[in-house]
Amino acid sequence: MSVNLNSNITELSGVGENYAKKLNKLGIHTVRELLFYFPRRWDDFSKITPIRDLKVGETVSVRGVIWDIATKRSRKGRPVTEIILTDDTGTTKAVWFNQPFLEKTLKKGDEIFLAGTLEFSFGGVGFNSPVWEKATEVAPNAHSVILSGAKDLDSSAMPQNDKNIGMTEYNLRHTGRIVPVYPETEGLTSKWLRAKIASLAKLVYGIKDHLPEEIKREHDLMELSATIRTMHYPENFAELKKAQKRIFFDNLFCLFCAVCSNRKRNDKNRAVAIEYDEKIGAEFVASLPYQLTDSQRKAAWQILKDLSLSSPMNRLLEGDVGSGKTVVAAMACVMTAKKGYQAAFLAPTEILAKQHFESLKNILTKFDVSIALLTGSTKPAEKKETLKRLADGDIQIIVGTHALLSPEIKFWTLALVIVDEQHRFGVEQREALKKVNENGMSPHFLSMSATPIPRTLAITVFGDLEISTLTDMPPGRQKVETFLVPAEKRSDGYKFIDEQIEKGRQVFVICPLVSASDKLGVKSAEEEAERLRSGTFKHRKVGLVHGRMKAEEKEKTMHEFKEGRTNILVSTSVIEVGIDISNASIMVIEGAERFGLAQLHQFRGRVGRGEHKSYCFLFSENRSEQTEERLSALLKSDNGFELAERDLEIRGPGELLGLKQSGKIDEVLFAAIKNPQSIAEVRTAAEKYLDNNNLAENQLLSEKVAQFDLAAKLE
Ligand code: ADP
Ligand code: MG
Repeated sequence: MSVNLNSNITELSGVGENYAKKLNKLGIHTVRELLFYFPRRWDDFSKITPIRDLKVGETVSVRGVIWDIATKRSRKGRPVTEIILTDDTGTTKAVWFNQPFLEKTLKKGDEIFLAGTLEFSFGGVGFNSPVWEKATEVAPNAHSVILSGAKDLDSSAMPQNDKNIGMTEYNLRHTGRIVPVYPETEGLTSKWLRAKIASLAKLVYGIKDHLPEEIKREHDLMELSATIRTMHYPENFAELKKAQKRIFFDNLFCLFCAVCSNRKRNDKNRAVAIEYDEKIGAEFVASLPYQLTDSQRKAAWQILKDLSLSSPMNRLLEGDVGSGKTVVAAMACVMTAKKGYQAAFLAPTEILAKQHFESLKNILTKFDVSIALLTGSTKPAEKKETLKRLADGDIQIIVGTHALLSPEIKFWTLALVIVDEQHRFGVEQREALKKVNENGMSPHFLSMSATPIPRTLAITVFGDLEISTLTDMPPGRQKVETFLVPAEKRSDGYKFIDEQIEKGRQVFVICPLVSASDKLGVKSAEEEAERLRSGTFKHRKVGLVHGRMKAEEKEKTMHEFKEGRTNILVSTSVIEVGIDISNASIMVIEGAERFGLAQLHQFRGRVGRGEHKSYCFLFSENRSEQTEERLSALLKSDNGFELAERDLEIRGPGELLGLKQSGKIDEVLFAAIKNPQSIAEVRTAAEKYLDNNNLAENQLLSEKVAQFDLAAKLE
């Protein structure tokens, strides 16, 4: 059977449907992908210890001859296979349970390697179920790996002797060397993976390196083929370190190439310069019933300065829930409108769009600008009218949902697009927003997010994005009192909640799942709503909302809650985004351990928005010390950024950014964040490379870079 890098893994001997499925789940479909599946750690079994020098508790390899082998029954009737192993210096013992078939493979007189930890047991000292392999099992061409025919084969890179292909003298894979340990997921053992990968080792030399020579030279990086070989079967730890360095640099370099080339593309676009008008600015500030906070002022200034340039703004305005992002956005809108251009303000849901529409109208009452709302439920006649007025330039600020992205919508002169919680929009939708107008201009782009992204992460991922951060809260904001409630206090908690409802307050209850599942003990919104309706709160009105409901149904339930017609709203995490219900003063979170800290903080931010004293109750089925410590961070900190930093350490960046299936990117980002100094080095290297080269001309590199274009999808 001829196997090459592009072969499907099912073409490998020993990979049937079952194994293929497991590999697929890890994202491995081809031989190449299998070779790029790296170990999680390495065990050092490289030192062969003479039997005489063995010490209990040490993890080592030994090499010896089987003096005797026998299978007995243990007292409980289990088969126990025991061998006596000797070398020039002494004798030791090893046992395996429930593996009587070992006697078929291991024979008296065989020379073998063992790797494991020497223990006291079985009436003496010995190895319990050590890894073993025969010293004689040298089979260089056991799998007929054929090198010719592979499209991207580079046979000149193949070394003259096979020993370099990660094999020792004895072709050892599990013992007597530094041994790779793979993430053991999907029921794939390291032992199985080691054998499969070792059998493909020769193909490694067919992998062409995508990193440019000068980059490798300048940064002292290992060749790709050597790197892959070393990652699986390092000869020593110094070599392994070099291989890891290359992988780290490589990934980050490609990520930055993706980020920076996106920016270059954007740089070419032109935008209308919306000149800053001091009079309008002053009028706006004077019209507000409150003073802007320092960070609102600073953010507004940064945004207005960007707007005055003729290259399109690409800025993220981030700030904790309640930090007052809307008013900053409103200032940009009014400047745009007053200079004769149009602004579009997008929100991910109808409720939020309405909310923004109301707030903007409110903030801008003193200004003569026309503001309109367009959503999926706008009546056809009204919609027709709105479209016409938009095209005529009669509407200056339009607020809406996805409906605004429809191709039938024509603007007069759209110069500013603002998107709230933009991660709720798909990639294509975001691209549609940035598209160039008929007049050849791109609109300025401002996104807003309450997900605090730590600086290091922001710089890495959003290389081409400027960031304004609201670091201080408007004065007088009350703190939401937060409690971690033990199971035995639940009914007390409910009693308190009922008293609050009696006083007219409203309650959110968040559950981790939509409906009942086999995940034992995890609360689902459907079940919880039913439980509350028929039990503790049967005298109250309980609403239910979750992501699997139809949009209209969702909107209806939310609307009823907003109107105060329901007392309790049970929901999944759909509630997270910006909904403003000032009468809601209690946030109950079930299965709190299943959410990230930043996310929990966002939930909590849904209450305490009115004049009422507000509370957050965290319930958790898992009362491990670790969980408790993590959750108690919420009791201590009221700062979304602090909490996000902690999240990042615990849960990784993908989760924080709301990335689905972020596996690889996650790893890269995580490594990057842990090495902030190197971020700068790699980034400079990528920028310099792009300045002097045309990425598109390097096909191998471009293909690799394309895999990292997630950055663009995120932003
Ligand atoms: P978010 O950043 O979560 O979107 P909003 O823009 O909805 O926050 O603002 C939250 C509330 O704070 C609003 O009711 C708004 O009127 C109020 N607000 C905003 N800025 C200030 C300020 N500087 N002083 C007092 N209240 C403010
Ligand atoms: Mg908001």
